[in-house]
Amino acid sequence: MIKVDPLLRESYFIHYRTIMVSETAHSKNVCVIGAGPSGLVAARELRKEGHKVVVLEQNHDVGGQWLYDEKNVEGEDPLGRNPFLKVHSSVYNSLRLASPREIMGFTDFPFLMKKGRDMRRFPSHVELLMYLKDFCEWFGLRDMIRFNTRVDYVGMLDYSVCRNDLKWVVRSKEKNSDKMVEEVFDAVVVATGHYSQPKLPSIKGMDTWKRKQMHSHIYRIPEPFRNEIVVVVGNSFSGHDISIDLVGVANEVHMSSRSLNISEGLSKVISKYDNFHLHPQIESLEEDGRVIFLDGSCIKADSILYCTGYSYSFPFLDTKEMVVVDDGRVGPLYEHTFPPSLAPSLSFIGIPKKILGFPFFEAQAMWIAQLLSGKKALPSRDEMMKSIQEFYHSREIAGIPKHCTHDIGDFEYCDKYGENVGLTPIEEWRKSLCISSLINADANLETYRDSWDDDELLQEALQSPHFTQLGLED
Ligand SMILES: Cc1cc2nc3c(=O)[nH]c(=O)nc-3n(C[C@H](O)[C@H](O)[C@H](O)COP(=O)(O)OP(=O)(O)OC[C@H]3O[C@@H](n4cnc5c(N)ncnc54)[C@H](O)[C@@H]3O)c2cc1C
Repeated sequence: MIKVDPLLRESYFIHYRTIMVSETAHSKNVCVIGAGPSGLVAARELRKEGHKVVVLEQNHDVGGQWLYDEKNVEGEDPLGRNPFLKVHSSVYNSLRLASPREIMGFTDFPFLMKKGRDMRRFPSHVELLMYLKDFCEWFGLRDMIRFNTRVDYVGMLDYSVCRNDLKWVVRSKEKNSDKMVEEVFDAVVVATGHYSQPKLPSIKGMDTWKRKQMHSHIYRIPEPFRNEIVVVVGNSFSGHDISIDLVGVANEVHMSSRSLNISEGLSKVISKYDNFHLHPQIESLEEDGRVIFLDGSCIKADSILYCTGYSYSFPFLDTKEMVVVDDGRVGPLYEHTFPPSLAPSLSFIGIPKKILGFPFFEAQAMWIAQLLSGKKALPSRDEMMKSIQEFYHSREIAGIPKHCTHDIGDFEYCDKYGENVGLTPIEEWRKSLCISSLINADANLETYRDSWDDDELLQEALQSPHFTQLGLED
């Protein structure tokens, strides 16, 4: 076996990259923060476009949310109030995908079933991590990533002097080292995800309640709740999954929901389990352990688990207030991606919600790469601001609250976004499978991952060019 001196290998890659960079007149020196799905596809697209790319990733491996972390939750603040969290992933042990695998893949890399692995349509989180690792190997992305490196600061080199040729200072720290490394880049792509920083309700008595309270961010397994009376706050994806996880172990599970108008699927689960109960919102928490609900009902609980969602948070980012997070809105962002005053040298991937995530991240990555190389241009700053204001206004008129600014839920928008960078529209089967699985989940919450009635569509998907393009056997 030939042993390659790591230093030599590194210099080879640096040299290789330098050559690539000098081949294209418009290549940029780009820092991508995060090696989750968004950061990985960004790195690939940027490199494809001839840019020199460094991905800084605080964890030891790729995967982002899908890099399950059970070990470090012990050291995390249970309510996650610290903006610099110790743990990134909020994935729990029992988690299976909420979307069928066939709609999840990047456009040129289908999420295939692989023999000897989890071949289910809605596989466990482990299988998605494997898919992302396969993606990295297939496109040779690992060389671009610096692992165990957390970005602590990103700021402009001197905005007042060079507004049109912005440079970014990035300070990062390697794990187990006190040394801060400072680098300057032509562009920064923020791909740090938004399912880590707990969003908490404000409840009377919450600060003085003496018993166990935690956010779902650090929930991993049901065992610590054995024989307990648990209140689960929140009636969304994790609230459902975690309650179902707990009913077999806890004595009683009490879900507190903002609305008692619940889905057919949730009512089926509640009527199936004698120890699962539904309540309205919590009115107050009392020092003796009582939890009082808005309808006056009350229970004495051992634990409260807040499945109340996550906030956008960029604790490392200093944009001099040119990008702010306000009530779930990251803004101003043109097309959820570009801050008009700082684009294209600063961009965000993965902000939108209620979309087919991976193909959308891919389109964002392509647009950023093409803008940085000068192949494409953004409208003027004023035009971008006008478009953002019009978008906010239209949402307001439609009665959509500010915290839902980035909830897209619109295939047409995604198609237009992709078309702009040369992607073909989302396949009809992908759209239909997305809708049929949402309908199934709504009606059959406990069973939708194992039984469905869209087999015909599924067959159509599996025979489509998307699934056959790599010419690989299952
Ligand atoms: C419980 C749960 C279930 C989900 N289920 C689904 C599902 O079924 N289907 C679906 O499509 N999506 C699901 N999601 C959404 C999921 O977050 C996305 O699929 C996807 O992981 C988003 O990718 P991302 O790269 O934008 O962010 P992430 O996956 O969060 O990756 C961000 C990366 O940035 C790194 N990072 C953050 N800050 C720094 C820093 N300062 N310095 C260096 N690195 C940093 C992180 O370590 C991480 O690796 C789920 C999320 C959760 C929490």
